[in-house]
Amino acid sequence: MAQSNELAESPQAPEALKISVIGCGYLGAVHAASMAELGHEVVGVEVDVEKAEALAAGRVPFFEPGFEELLRRSLASGRLSFSPDMKAATGAAVHFVCVGTPQRRGEYAADLTYVEAATSSLLDVLGPGELVVGKSTVPVGTAARLAALVAERVPEAALAWNPEFLREGFAVQDTLHPDRLVYGVADGGPVDAEALLDRVYARIVADDTPKVVTDYATAEMVKTAANSFLATKISFINAMAELCEATGADVKQLADAIGHDDRIGRKFLNAGLGFGGGCLPKDIRAFMARAGELGADQALTFLREVDNINMRRRIRMVELARQVCDDSLLGKRIAVLGAAFKPDSDDIRDSPALNVAAQLQLQGASVRVTDPQALPNVRRQWSQLDCVDTPEEAAEGADAVLLLTEWRQYKELDPAAFGAVVRTRRVLDGRNALDREAWEAAGWTYRALGRRNA
Ligand code: NAD
Repeated sequence: MAQSNELAESPQAPEALKISVIGCGYLGAVHAASMAELGHEVVGVEVDVEKAEALAAGRVPFFEPGFEELLRRSLASGRLSFSPDMKAATGAAVHFVCVGTPQRRGEYAADLTYVEAATSSLLDVLGPGELVVGKSTVPVGTAARLAALVAERVPEAALAWNPEFLREGFAVQDTLHPDRLVYGVADGGPVDAEALLDRVYARIVADDTPKVVTDYATAEMVKTAANSFLATKISFINAMAELCEATGADVKQLADAIGHDDRIGRKFLNAGLGFGGGCLPKDIRAFMARAGELGADQALTFLREVDNINMRRRIRMVELARQVCDDSLLGKRIAVLGAAFKPDSDDIRDSPALNVAAQLQLQGASVRVTDPQALPNVRRQWSQLDCVDTPEEAAEGADAVLLLTEWRQYKELDPAAFGAVVRTRRVLDGRNALDREAWEAAGWTYRALGRRNA
């Protein structure tokens, strides 16, 4: 699967470099193909042999809009290859580390096992003048520690931290047209990391993309601070939703009204079931854990509340379902529309939708889950849940329909036709995404988090 170590000879890309990307999951696979799109010769190193083989054959092992075309184009250019063997990274000028940093079992802290293992095997092939670039989200202090390892083993090589801000669902666009570049670099040293990264991102830099060049600690913190801010914004509006539920006010109108103030802005103020996925929840927890280790835990105690508010929304959704089902879930048929943690992704890591579906089932409901892309992952990891392919199958004979991931397909359902398959026309809009008036006009009882009842 690997190809030659020679620098790609490409007349369109005189600045082309040989690049390795270690870890080809949601972040790394898109990064590898995007770097080839920018003209570089790229090898993706992925320990999961099946995943490496699928990618090498142009098959995308996850759902990401636009990625399959990009992958196939990059493979066809001859500039992209994949290998399960770290030796394939030999001779690359830049090595991007894109492995996972999940939450440690039973703790808040990040599990750095994969970053450490990947760096350690990379050191066996790292050559002088080469640059290791961390893209994984790591606790502050990790880059300095890894840089010391690099300096000890290959003194003429160096390390930089270049956090990634891509959003699943927009990963290709965000990688090729990021809203900013952040380089965490060491002062001095054997490699001019900024110049090398500018060469990697030449086309992006030429687009006048804002660039922040800083130290390791700031670069690491930019990522966790950004995610903490976004999580806080979501939990803020969800806290307002709790109050709206207590007062009879309407959170959607409230968000529209405060969002008109451009210091606040309307984005990320959609009240609903809250955030999940492979980043926000574990990143805010790892940030709190790291602050504790640094003796600065007070600075981030508010994130505990952000996390609590977020988790409470899931419980509230289950309560709301019980309420509309005449105060008992036992034996009720519930249709769950959406399983991915967000639309346009098949990622079910810490998915609020699945969390709610499982709680409903535990409380005696008969639950049917559907999702346009995530069902293979659900069937693999949540075998206790009953999965069906279409919203109509999920809703057949249902006592209530819950919209838990706001896929376009579900927002565009015709409430009149869809109403024909259910037993009772009750819809719970967990994402405040449906056209309430249209559903009510079709005879549905509509309920949503933080919204006034009709
Ligand atoms: P992922 O689990 O989808 O991918 C990680 C990949 O690394 C897996 O395919 C795994 O098999 C591979 N891997 C593990 N150890 C390896 C090794 N030693 N050598 C080669 N491959 C190895 O995770 P992800 O979502 O791509 O996230 C990766 C990192 O990027 C995390 O730190 C995450 O927080 C961060 N991040 C993710 C996103 C996102 O939207 N997914 C966005 C920004 C940052």
